[in-house]
Amino acid sequence: MSKVEDFLTKAEEIEVVEAIRMAEKNTSGEIRIHLEKRTDIAPIERAMAVFHELKMDETQLRNGVIIYVAVKSKQFAIYGDKGINDKVNKDFWNITKDIMVGHFKNGANKLAIVEGINSTGEQLKKHFPFDDNDIDELSNEISKG
Ligand code: CA
Ligand code: CA
Repeated sequence: MSKVEDFLTKAEEIEVVEAIRMAEKNTSGEIRIHLEKRTDIAPIERAMAVFHELKMDETQLRNGVIIYVAVKSKQFAIYGDKGINDKVNKDFWNITKDIMVGHFKNGANKLAIVEGINSTGEQLKKHFPFDDNDIDELSNEISKG
């Protein structure tokens, strides 16, 4: 998996977007995927930078989550906004990361991303339940750098 375009097939991308849509039916939180070729800095640092570039820090409840993947560097990170980190303990993301690592090791990129979305959604809904007035604040489409 060295190219961003080869990371997921078109059909898999549709499944990923659908997984985000379904996860966001249970929570007011917003999940986004960002793929790029490589990172020269720690993936969590890069994830934070992309998070701000995508204006993911502008949600009303500060409850956006980015799942960042540098495909050629074979590194990824999950970063959640202040609203989430104020409420959860530090193991919050490790559970999700561990699930994803297992699938990446098997070369199952789509499964890694979808399971990452599902796990993030499960955790988000505990702290940010869906509200009938909820709006989709951030696009569910995959962002590519
Ligand atoms: Ca929302
Ligand atoms: Ca969304």
